[in-house]
Amino acid sequence: MSSYCLKPCDLKIAILTLIKKKAPKLYKRTEEKGTMVKKENQETEEGVKDKDFLDQTLRPSEWNEYIGQESIKNNIQILLKAASERKHPPEHLLFYGPPGLGKTTLAHLIAREMGVQMKVTSGPAIEKVGDLASILTNLSPGDILFIDEIHRLNKTVEEILYPAMESGSLDIIIGKGPSARTIQLELPSFTLIAATTRIAMISSPLRSRFGGGVFRLEFYTQNEIEKIIKRSAKIFNIEIEQEAAEEIAKRSRFTPRTANHLLKRARDFAQVNKRELDKTAVVEALSLLGIDTLGLAPSDRSLLETLINKFGGGPVGLGTLSAALSEETATLEEFNEPYLIQLGLLERTPRGRTATPKAHEHLGLKQSKLL
Ligand code: ADP
Repeated sequence: MSSYCLKPCDLKIAILTLIKKKAPKLYKRTEEKGTMVKKENQETEEGVKDKDFLDQTLRPSEWNEYIGQESIKNNIQILLKAASERKHPPEHLLFYGPPGLGKTTLAHLIAREMGVQMKVTSGPAIEKVGDLASILTNLSPGDILFIDEIHRLNKTVEEILYPAMESGSLDIIIGKGPSARTIQLELPSFTLIAATTRIAMISSPLRSRFGGGVFRLEFYTQNEIEKIIKRSAKIFNIEIEQEAAEEIAKRSRFTPRTANHLLKRARDFAQVNKRELDKTAVVEALSLLGIDTLGLAPSDRSLLETLINKFGGGPVGLGTLSAALSEETATLEEFNEPYLIQLGLLERTPRGRTATPKAHEHLGLKQSKLL
C-alpha cells in the first residue's frame, strides 16, 4: 500500500476533517472547499423557470429521458441492479468521449437511481493531496464522487487515489525523518465516476482501477438528436415544426449539448423577428451563427481551409496546425477533430493531419495534389 507525505497545509485540512467527524460542534469552518465541491441532488431555491439558459434545466432526470447510448445504459443498469442486490456501492466507472455527449448526465442518473448524494469536482480543482483527502473523508457511505476532466489530475493526487479506490483508505505520512509517522484515514465506501475527453492521457494504472467499466460515449444519430431537440422544445414551451427540428439536428455535430444550444439560438431569432420556428427561420438563424449545412462552425472551416490553403491539404503535424491557427492543440483535438473525422473530412495519419477529398469538395477548394 502506498504512503504519502503531507505538507502542513494539507495536514491542516485532513485534521479539520477528522475533528469535524469526531466532534461536529467544534467544527466551525464549514465547507472550506465549498466552491470546489458541489453537492448535487439538492433542490435549488430559485427553481428552474428563470434558469432555462442553463444546461441543468434540460438535463434528463430519468433513464427514459436519456436518449441513445443504449449499450452503455444497459450495462450500467445491470451493474446498478447487481450492486443494489448485494447491498454494495457499484464499482468505479469511467466515461470518455467528446464534450457534450452526456457523461455528466449519466453520473447524475446513476446517483439518482442509487438514491445517493453525488459530489462533483474536477481534475484541475484538486490541486493538492490534502484537497483530495478532505473531499474523500467528507463523503457519506455510498456517496458518488464525480471527477470531471480526470485526465487533468496531477500525478501525486492520482497516486493517492489508487489506494482510496482499491481499499478505501488513505495512508498519510506526517513529518519527516525519524519523527515521521503514518496515519491511516479510513474512508467511507464510495463510487468514483470519472469523465474525460482525453482517454489517452489516463495512465493505465488509473484506468485499470475502474472495475465497473470504461465506457466510450458515441456520437448520436440524426433521429436521436431530433428526439432530444423535441424534448428540449417541450421543456421550453416552444412550438417547433418537424422540418425545423430536422434542420437543427443535421447541424448539431451529433451532440446533444450543441443541439440544445442551436435550438436556443434559433428560438431567440424567431422570437426577436416575431416569426414561427420553422425550417426557414432555423436556416437563417444558424447561417447568422456561421453554422453551415454540415454543422461546421467557423473554427472547423478555418482548420480545413488552413490545412488546404497553407499546407496543400497535409499531412501536417498538430503542433504546426495549432500555431498556424493560433488555437490550442487540446481544443483542436477535443472539439474540432472528432467531428471532422466522424464526417470523413479529416484524417489523422502517422505523418499528420490530412484533408480528405470530401473536405475539398465541401469547401469548394481544389485539391493541390493527389491524396
Ligand atoms: P458531458 O458531460 O459529456 O460534457 P453533459 O452530460 O453535460 O455532457 O450533457 C450536456 C447536455 O446535453 C445535458 O445537460 C443534456 O441537456 C444534454 N444531453 C446529453 N446527453 C443526453 C441524452 N442522452 N439525452 C438527452 N439529453 C442529453
